[in-house]
Amino acid sequence: MRRIDRKELDEEVATHMPQKILIIEDEPTLARLLSYNLSQDGYEITVIDHGTEGLQAALQKMYDLIILDIMLPGMNGFEILSRIRQSGMRTPIIILTARNAEEEVVQGLKHGADDYITKPFGVAELLARVSAVLRRTSGDDTSLTQTASKENVIHAGELLIYPEKYEVVLHGEAIPLRPKEFEVLLYLVQRPGMVITRDDLMNVVWGFDYIGGQRTVDVHVSSLRKKLEMNQQSVQIDSIRGVGYKLVMNKKVSAPR
Ligand code: CA
Repeated sequence: MRRIDRKELDEEVATHMPQKILIIEDEPTLARLLSYNLSQDGYEITVIDHGTEGLQAALQKMYDLIILDIMLPGMNGFEILSRIRQSGMRTPIIILTARNAEEEVVQGLKHGADDYITKPFGVAELLARVSAVLRRTSGDDTSLTQTASKENVIHAGELLIYPEKYEVVLHGEAIPLRPKEFEVLLYLVQRPGMVITRDDLMNVVWGFDYIGGQRTVDVHVSSLRKKLEMNQQSVQIDSIRGVGYKLVMNKKVSAPR
């Protein structure tokens, strides 16, 4: 494990850490073109050539930007857009639309895209659009996702959550969680107050091809809940009958009764 003097390096790291871009595009030539030019420009690129796998990647890792094709095997771009936005994630998304397909642009923006690029496009336009969207969205975005990717710690009530270390710390002591329990907690904590369905948790934490059933989700949430209740009262997980779960912050926990 590397040790970094945070105070001195925070600004340095924040400015020089490459921004991560996820490209969901099934056409190899276009994917290569995007990937090559964006990495030349200093971005860290991940390419996924399949719809459902792309969605899974988008929900699992924190990206600074997603470039999304519309026609994809497995799941189309509009559906991916909706699922990402439904999950509460506000990662900026640029869609790639076909020429003379205004309807795609309208649908895309309606489903939560930040911008669009019409195929075929030049490299200069691509780079300009990407940096414009990143500039526009980074300034006012105070979401937990952004905070986590820069500082690598999320504050939730009395808990300190370190996404990269899979560690939850309460008053200086680590709470022992199994990896899947940690992933469930991380996902809920990034969406406080939102009802998260069992399906969402299953897809994000266990993967779309997991066949273990929703009971697995319930078992992990119940065990996670016990561990949290034993140690603190500022964060709790409520069950929403027949639907899923919701993370609730108890702000009044330390107030005198
Ligand atoms: Ca395509």
